[in-house]
Amino acid sequence: MIQTTNGRVQRATKSELLLERARASIAGGDNSTMRVLPYHLPLVAVRGEGSRIWDADGQEHIDLNMAYGPLIFGHRPPRVTDAVVRQITESGSQLGFPAELSARVAEKVKLLYPHIELLRFSSTGTEAIVAALRLARVFTERRYVIAFEGHYHGSSDNIFHRYHAPLEELPEGAYAPALPGTLGMNGAPVDVLVCPWNSPEALEKCLRDHADDVAAVIMEPVMGNAGVIAPHNDFLEIARALTHEHAALLIFDEVITGMRVAAGGAQERYGVEADITILSKALGGGYPISALGSTREIMQSIVEGRLFHGGVYSGNALVMAAADAVLDEIHRDSAAIYDHLNAVSGEFAEGVREVFTRLGIPHQVNQVGPMVSMILTSGDVGPIRSYRDIRRHCDFEKYIRFQHQLQRSGVYFHPNQFEPLFFSTAHSRQDVATVLERIEDGARATLLA
Ligand code: PMP
Repeated sequence: MIQTTNGRVQRATKSELLLERARASIAGGDNSTMRVLPYHLPLVAVRGEGSRIWDADGQEHIDLNMAYGPLIFGHRPPRVTDAVVRQITESGSQLGFPAELSARVAEKVKLLYPHIELLRFSSTGTEAIVAALRLARVFTERRYVIAFEGHYHGSSDNIFHRYHAPLEELPEGAYAPALPGTLGMNGAPVDVLVCPWNSPEALEKCLRDHADDVAAVIMEPVMGNAGVIAPHNDFLEIARALTHEHAALLIFDEVITGMRVAAGGAQERYGVEADITILSKALGGGYPISALGSTREIMQSIVEGRLFHGGVYSGNALVMAAADAVLDEIHRDSAAIYDHLNAVSGEFAEGVREVFTRLGIPHQVNQVGPMVSMILTSGDVGPIRSYRDIRRHCDFEKYIRFQHQLQRSGVYFHPNQFEPLFFSTAHSRQDVATVLERIEDGARATLLA
């Protein structure tokens, strides 16, 4: 097929052709909106190994997306693959009965998250969070949930708020009822209030104004869905103290941070314990798992079956075998794993700052262990501490131009700069050095106009 771009005639790539074919059968060409945004440069992936993917045109990319986070050990880590193959060839992918494997995985999770006494597994972050919010409401017999601007907790009607709202839609006051995150939600999410991130005053006011009726405060303990923004000035400790004071539960959505910012997630890194923890991505190492964990007392309504929690694929044996292998790896070698993840991410973050500073390109690189975001800003800005700061200063168009150039040079990260970059144990320091060289070339080509 022949295509015209910028007046030039070009042969379509195999990725373009495959996407065109997919669009005839799959709505929009793929199964998640975030993977086929209008400004995505077409890339159909064929194969992954370690820190690399290969596309349909045979081009190799250093992958800094890691399937949006799960691939903590890179693509196809042999120990995880072997465990999965053993499970499906010797026992079966799905037996549909209670199994020792689930209990074993739960025991290994509990060693890392000490507040957890009981767990339930499911397949996606969205599902675990739906259950967590119901659990909090049942346990406290209260109605409201407080969430934060820029934080994403899955696409369900009970929490999907407009987390990337334009600045002009954000309220003047300390907090506001959540706006629906997409079409078709009939006014949901219901009874969800949204505060700015890192504002103790707003959270306190919201809790006080709804005294005795807030079931839970839910947060990504490190915001990772609108750039990476760490909790500042003891915000986690303050949120913990305020929720205790108001007898509301604190839910940490550790879908991204769990087994990433430390083996024990943000709770280990910051020394603050939640009442309910949600885990997902890194726990499965690339297989669809999520977990909801809490104390025996809080989980009692699920134990007794008063609160329904189910799922045909919850605790699927193939997925559990993968998680079992991931956890074994973490328990075997935690220091080496997190030292390496911190080292490559730190070298990358420092290197990008150095390149952009030397070239005079306004930027902010935020890093919390192996969570990094590279933000191109519209000018020099002060500290970025909230969704509003990042939204006010980031330059999406510039980033997309830059990302397209990097993708052409064989480095992949998501074209929306709100998506973090993810490193794995498969990324070497040589990978980082190669990426930094390509970043400098790409920045010279697209950002120095
Ligand atoms: N919570 C957080 C913090 C997430 O990043 C995501 C997914 N990106 C979810 C929840 C939802 O997970 P899933 O897409 O598996 O439903």
